Amino acid sequence: MTTDLEIGLYIFILAGFLGYHIISRVPPLLHTPLMSATNAMSGISLVGSLLVAGSGHSLLSTLFGFVAVACSSTNVVGGFLITDRMLKMFRKAPVEGAVVKSQSRLRRIGRLALPIPFALLAGLILWLAQLRSSGRFDPRQALSFFYIVSAVLFILGLKGLSSPKWARRGMFLAEFGMLMAIVGTLFHPEIVTYGWIIGGLAIGTIVGGSLGYWVPMTAVPQRTALSHSLGALAATLIGISEYIRHQNGIGMVLMTALGAEVAIGGLTFTGSLMAAGKLQGLLPGSPITYRGQNQSNITLLAVMVGSLLYLIIQPSASGLFYLVVALALLFGFLLVIPIGAADMPVVISLLNSYAGMADAAMGFVLMNKIQIITGSLDGTSGFLLSLLMCKAMNRSAVNVLFGAFGKIEAEPEGSEAMSAKGTVRSIMHEEVPVLLDGARSVIIVPGYGMAVAQAQHGVSELASILMKRGINVKYAIHPVAGRMPGHMNVLLAEANVPYDQLYDMDQINPYFGEADVAIIVGANDVTNPAAKYNKSSPLYGMPVLEVERAKSVIVLKRSMRPGFAGVDNDLYYNPKCVMLFGDAKESLTKLFSAFKS
Ligand code: NAP
Repeated sequence: MTTDLEIGLYIFILAGFLGYHIISRVPPLLHTPLMSATNAMSGISLVGSLLVAGSGHSLLSTLFGFVAVACSSTNVVGGFLITDRMLKMFRKAPVEGAVVKSQSRLRRIGRLALPIPFALLAGLILWLAQLRSSGRFDPRQALSFFYIVSAVLFILGLKGLSSPKWARRGMFLAEFGMLMAIVGTLFHPEIVTYGWIIGGLAIGTIVGGSLGYWVPMTAVPQRTALSHSLGALAATLIGISEYIRHQNGIGMVLMTALGAEVAIGGLTFTGSLMAAGKLQGLLPGSPITYRGQNQSNITLLAVMVGSLLYLIIQPSASGLFYLVVALALLFGFLLVIPIGAADMPVVISLLNSYAGMADAAMGFVLMNKIQIITGSLDGTSGFLLSLLMCKAMNRSAVNVLFGAFGKIEAEPEGSEAMSAKGTVRSIMHEEVPVLLDGARSVIIVPGYGMAVAQAQHGVSELASILMKRGINVKYAIHPVAGRMPGHMNVLLAEANVPYDQLYDMDQINPYFGEADVAIIVGANDVTNPAAKYNKSSPLYGMPVLEVERAKSVIVLKRSMRPGFAGVDNDLYYNPKCVMLFGDAKESLTKLFSAFKS
């Protein structure tokens, strides 16, 4: 006879494989929306939170449930809103009239069909309400079908992210799946009181709505980190509340799931808060290190795991349970302080994966299959993105977590090593149009500095000016340019750059040889040729954009300061390269006047 636990484990493993299969097909262009979409889906922890907040077991569990409802609904509302905001920006270059016509006809049909799913949902809800009031049939059975449909819709939603063409439609399906699961759960017979649920949902909707609508695209990394911390807090609180509820009758299996839920949830909560603080500049971005740091962290982890194992054998040792929660909170904090702000994207992705695991563990505790599925999908997505980023930087996950990268001392300006490389030539704004005169092909390379300067609109305007002059313009997107996977794609989409003008590294590198000018806007490490030949460089082995093959190179940045890796860029000493010093946005504004005059 197959037990619920076995079924849960099968579901967890299969969802992980399916997630890997679907998510590995999401193009780098859509990696940032993928992060926020899985983040929104992991808000399915709301389903379990609703049960705890509404079942009225004790005041403490109701309060914990209320906070968990507020946190999870913040993630659902905020996550889906910001994903939609991003996806709306991705568009192709204008197409011929016939295609536009057929597209608008499709859109009209889509709009007409829109009420159908909502009418179906309303019918199902009425049916559930009737089942609940008649008492003849357990609505839980009907609800499990709701969850199956929701899970299918989530998977289709993720599948949609394999192309910008289908991404919004896919997300609509996922949103609808979420709505079905939430509304269906409200009819669960265990829910006896709705006051706290309504309060939590109202807070979550307001906070999530504000985060989803008003957070600028440049602040997406810290918003993502913040929402992981909220999801993890929800899982931890539900874990504590369930431990208190079942304290006298906890078996080893339930204790394993509860232990995993609070341990992973706790460390993800504090770790993600630290990551958000570092990215927002509220905490120092540089790695904070001290002697014996890795050893003390590993000892702490060992004590936590040891306590957890003992707790599984002896679930009634409540003191140990709270010790595990406290150690997990401390471990999350200590794990992130030695990591530099620039490495935070990898950390965020890993924490995304942990948040998914905490969510899945909560699914095992409550034996809620949809949470097991979404937790597994979220976990796979975060893990896969972290691996992709590490691969693109030619670094291992261990180096990111324990390497304190970003603490490297930069060579001081004018140092001997620098002057040995040659001279750096700078250029004035009014000289740029002359340099571009006669150019037929230009490649624009955006980087982290474009995000800092919020210069994406200026970059898009520059491209329009060049295209009006008959110049062919392409954008070169390095997989780890900026501070998030797909960071540059989202910013350029915000500035109305059609995604078919964006070329990823492997596509664009062969074109550099034919380009007349490469214009680099705030990118540094991703253009450093030393990555190809200098074995002592921390960048050695990282695949880079081969900008030096263009006939000439213009670099827009403020100074000779290095980028994330803390090393000087050999490109700047290349006789083909000229520096246009200044804030990227200001430089572009000055350039426009220079073009006009
Ligand atoms: P970068 O190497 O960090 O360089 C950014 C450059 O932008 C800096 O040299 C800076 O020079 C310039 N800058 C900053 N503010 C500016 C402004 N207002 N106007 C003009 N320029 C400005 O950036 P990148 O080339 O995009 O490379 C990304 C780095 O981040 C890589 O090393 C990558 O491995 C790492 N990373 C990325 C991810 C990811 O997912 N994308 C994840 C982890 C790590 P000035 O100060 O002189 O202006």
